[in-house]
Amino acid sequence: MAQENAEKNRLIALASEQAYNAVLITDADFDGGGPFIVHCNPAFCQMTGYTREALIGRPPKILQGPDTDMEVIASLKQALTQRTFWEGSTINYRNDGQAYVVNWNVSPVFNENNELTNFVSVQQDITSHVKAEKERETLIKALNQANDPVVITDEKEHIVFVNAAFEKLTGYHKEEVLGQTPAILNSGEQDAAFYRNLWQSLEKNQPFQARFINRRKDGSRYYVEQSIAPVQDEHGRCTHYISTSWQVDDIVEREKVLYAMASEDKLTGLLNRRAGDEALATAYRRWRDEHCPLSIIICDIDHFKHVNDTYGHLAGDRVIQHIAKALKEQVRPGDPVIRWGGEEFMVVIHAPQVTAVNLAERLRNAVSVLEDDEVGRVTLSLGVAEVMPGESVEQLLGRADGALYRAKSNGRNMTMHASGQ
Ligand code: GH3
Ligand code: MG
Ligand code: MG
Repeated sequence: MAQENAEKNRLIALASEQAYNAVLITDADFDGGGPFIVHCNPAFCQMTGYTREALIGRPPKILQGPDTDMEVIASLKQALTQRTFWEGSTINYRNDGQAYVVNWNVSPVFNENNELTNFVSVQQDITSHVKAEKERETLIKALNQANDPVVITDEKEHIVFVNAAFEKLTGYHKEEVLGQTPAILNSGEQDAAFYRNLWQSLEKNQPFQARFINRRKDGSRYYVEQSIAPVQDEHGRCTHYISTSWQVDDIVEREKVLYAMASEDKLTGLLNRRAGDEALATAYRRWRDEHCPLSIIICDIDHFKHVNDTYGHLAGDRVIQHIAKALKEQVRPGDPVIRWGGEEFMVVIHAPQVTAVNLAERLRNAVSVLEDDEVGRVTLSLGVAEVMPGESVEQLLGRADGALYRAKSNGRNMTMHASGQ
């Protein structure tokens, strides 16, 4: 029995010596001014900077100092007198005066007669932990005060953090998006190639920056200039992605206005030639990719030189404006009507040639009944062509021009359509 006890004591002593946590044992001598330290392990000496000799026989309060929380100490004392387990944390001071944050617990130890003999305390210096936690709190506070949205995802793209600006902009509460992927913001207005580029950059551990058209919780769209960067650990492995963005709705709105201004013909309000070229190219791509029929109508005012020569350039301009308005009124709102040249116009419609010829005739009739107070009536000649398989935009334009030329040479004020290639 004695041998068994000795072995147990030896093991306990060894464990205490080698323990990672600081271990302190005091007596329970309340009457003599204690409790006093009767044992401490190397981890405790290391934490406090005191030698064992300097600690043995002294009260643990030698570790206290100006920033020690006396309320915590009072609660400890109460637990000790009530002989109950206690746990808490406060600031203590090393031998060299340096403060540290300690978290510790104290358990009473009783002998076989159930008399209180000692207290054993396990302690941990949590200074760096507290500091890291404070830094984290400061960082989160800073991110939440930032005006621009911030999203952090893990490497599997699951959202682990969003700041207050994100919640405000998107209408999502953070609880709704944590664990989701940023795909919830996709508006569907950016094509697969856009997202391919994004992933190609990120897979190469490179940041990606672009303008995103995103969707709020209520479905409304917003524009952000967004940069997404991989966050790497010390081995260069990507652990997170951080996305910061700033809202550019007003910039996009201004760009749209500028673009519309740059697309508009000043005299007539129709699309100008540059925008017309673009509109025709877009329609051509749609014909090619989606197989919608595509026709164009080229209109040219008859004997317009004569109008200018007789009534002057200003009267000529006025006639051009009236004709532009009449043309615009005959076509559906989305269909491009272009001021193709000085007194030439073009209409682009996704329709077969027969429909385009009918529309051309309506255009011709609408113009033929316009009456200018000074100039009187003018007429249009029109050439129509539908794009044919394998045909380029230039070839299509050439055939429409050919048809127009025939309308002119056949007597003007008429519509001709192109024959095959
Ligand atoms: P045609 O029936 O063969 O078309 O005869 P046309 O006299 O109309 O000949 P053309 O189509 O070559 O006409 C071009 C004339 O249109 C030349 C130019 O004086 C006039 N013109 C071109 N742009 C403008 C413009 O912006 N304002 C005015 N007032 N006249 C223009
Ligand atoms: Mg002309
Ligand atoms: Mg003309």
